[in-house]
Amino acid sequence: MDHEDLRHWSKRAADWAADYHARLRERPVRAPLVPGATRAALPPHPPEAPEDPAAIWADFERLVPGAMTHWQHPRFFAYFPANAAPASIWAEQVANAMAAQCMLWQTSPAATEMEQVMVDWLRQALGLPEGLAGTIHDSATTATLSAVLTMRERALGFAGLARGLSGAPVLRLYASTQTHSSVDKAVRLAGIGQENLVKLPAGPDGSMDPRDLAAAIAADRAAGHLPAGVVVCAGGTSTGAFDRAGEVIAVARAEGLPSHVDAAWAGSAMICPEFRHLWAGAEAADSIVVNPHKWLGAQFDCAVQFLADPGPQVRTLGLRPDYLATPGAEEIVNFNEWTVPLGRRFRALKLWFLLRAEGLAGLRARIRAHVAWAEAAAAAIARLPGVQIVTPPRLALFTFALAAGDAATEALLARLNDGGEVYLTPTRTAGRSVIRVSVGGWSTTEADVNHLVACIRAALG
Ligand SMILES: *Cc1c(COP(=O)(O)O)cnc(C)c1O
Repeated sequence: MDHEDLRHWSKRAADWAADYHARLRERPVRAPLVPGATRAALPPHPPEAPEDPAAIWADFERLVPGAMTHWQHPRFFAYFPANAAPASIWAEQVANAMAAQCMLWQTSPAATEMEQVMVDWLRQALGLPEGLAGTIHDSATTATLSAVLTMRERALGFAGLARGLSGAPVLRLYASTQTHSSVDKAVRLAGIGQENLVKLPAGPDGSMDPRDLAAAIAADRAAGHLPAGVVVCAGGTSTGAFDRAGEVIAVARAEGLPSHVDAAWAGSAMICPEFRHLWAGAEAADSIVVNPHKWLGAQFDCAVQFLADPGPQVRTLGLRPDYLATPGAEEIVNFNEWTVPLGRRFRALKLWFLLRAEGLAGLRARIRAHVAWAEAAAAAIARLPGVQIVTPPRLALFTFALAAGDAATEALLARLNDGGEVYLTPTRTAGRSVIRVSVGGWSTTEADVNHLVACIRAALG
């Protein structure tokens, strides 16, 4: 295949993509689950001779779309949205075509400088204070790992990088029970250890009690442990719980500990001033992660980490081997020093296209609509016989269950998902099996949300 073939087949792909998106409603949201079906349809060995692009394309159409879960489907109410606005898909097409490695300023001048400006555009859009810097990671998991590694090194006076952790004091990290499993992964990978992530109970309002945090830190110090930092939950994945960020960060500061706010999902909603009270005080954190690749519409991957002072993170993650030496290191930023991988994609381009094509007003209108539709759906579902709302809408996420118990709730979820018209996912809260409803798809309409309520009503028989 040469570049002239690519011209032809990428036009085909663009037409296919437009049709795919236009007709998503006709597909089942989740692929009928038959484990092994795709594997069985693929040849067990790679081809020796080149194959015709037409054959590759035909097999793609035959094998792949029908075996996918359609994340851009307007009736996808599972997990959290992973939205791909048209403008961001468009940007990815050209970023892919340039296929640049954006590790150093000199390997990607426009990408590096656009990343600086887009992080600042997003900072302004979210109402965060001037002076925060930031970078774009692949995922919130990596951003949180970066923050936790930095917390570790700050606690150790940056000695762990050279000496390792053997012989070091026991490091301790604090978070609520509502924080995402990426925090567990970070403490495991950072060598802190799962047992040293202190999970503080979340109260009825979804927040840890800042007094519990202070007490846990004091107890750890008394035991000779070394507290390293606090992770603040701003929109938990299970039920959308929020810590009282300002109070939690105040305790961290009083203890001399850095803080990291995980707002991977809910952060996008903070473009609307009326929702900012939910994370009030977050702006005082050392680090904040927001995933524009969730609700905002910048297609995966795009996780923005804001940093009050990038210095400690760059000191933790940055390396300057001879073969990466660049001139003018004073005026420029080499973003690989801020992140875990060396190689980096040109992720800022899709933010630039997205923010321009939609405008903040357009993005706000969408998020406000999702929140309003979620509230209306929760009210309608609450009126169905035998159904209980278990956690009320937090932004556009709520959970419900059947009064008849866990088995009945799980059976209802299976019926709904097998029907293919909607897709929802489960969680557990307050000791119960519940069904999550997460509204926020880029193409979701009010009619789709009403249809969800109708599907639930019908599935109740
Ligand atoms: C989705 C999510 C994550 C993980 O995001 P990735 O970008 O997939 O790593 C972390 N925390 C919260 C609160 C999330 O919603």
